[in-house]
Amino acid sequence: MSAGRPAFPSLAAVRRGIVGCERCPRLRAHCARVAREKKRAFRDQDYWGRPVPGFGDPRARLLVVGLAPAAHGGNRTGRVFTGDSSGDWLYEALHRFGFASQPHSVSRDDDLRLRDCYVTAAARCAPPQNRPARAELERCGPFLAAEFALLGRVRLVVALGGIAHERFLRAAGWWERLGPRLRPRFAHAAEAPLPDGTVLLSSYHPSRQNTSTGRLTRPMWHAVFRRARALLDGAGAQPRAFAAGTKRAPPRAPRRPRARAPRPPRRPQPSK
Ligand code: SF4
Repeated sequence: MSAGRPAFPSLAAVRRGIVGCERCPRLRAHCARVAREKKRAFRDQDYWGRPVPGFGDPRARLLVVGLAPAAHGGNRTGRVFTGDSSGDWLYEALHRFGFASQPHSVSRDDDLRLRDCYVTAAARCAPPQNRPARAELERCGPFLAAEFALLGRVRLVVALGGIAHERFLRAAGWWERLGPRLRPRFAHAAEAPLPDGTVLLSSYHPSRQNTSTGRLTRPMWHAVFRRARALLDGAGAQPRAFAAGTKRAPPRAPRRPRARAPRPPRRPQPSK
């Protein structure tokens, strides 16, 4: 641990760090504005309006990594993938394959429980046009790294979309360790065994943009979580790339990243 950057001792500490974070002025201003102005359908609700922490079982073997909260989804309800159509897709599938107590996720108080599963995201603040900037993703990365370090039983990571795929690899230390030649490439349903035994299973994000255009269909989506269940139950414990005869020896595993707090925020520059 480097001086001045204390480790997060627990998931609760990560959660506190996320909820109190103000490091991205653009995102914080956007979330606050959305929370103030609201959507007509939710005008009677109090929006959360703060960064949204991860959620789930601290002993999870399955980690699901999304992109960022939706303006009127997680930014409204305060729970990741809760209160929007992406969440409807995600929790329906998690329930179908035994990872969630119910198929619906509508509010922080809806009694949803996750079993053997933890859900998180690459960025914790809702971004304009659902597009966090690279610098914002970089700033938020230590939170994902901390969660992965603290969730010591995770064996399977489902990354929703190319950005989540890359951000997980960076947070886990594999992006640099593997280098451009060995890094798993993003593709829907691509399955990549990592040298520490974790399997990275990637999927298109269940955003409306993908689900309403047919880029991601319900059968495609269910197949990802059916495969996740099979991998964790041992039926598919041998990663496909190895089973298919990959001869290349995997590089040595990096140590799991330490759970570090992000650097303190820079003072905002005065506008000219
Ligand atoms: S996106 Fe992450 S780093 Fe940026 S303000 Fe939100 S919680 Fe903090």
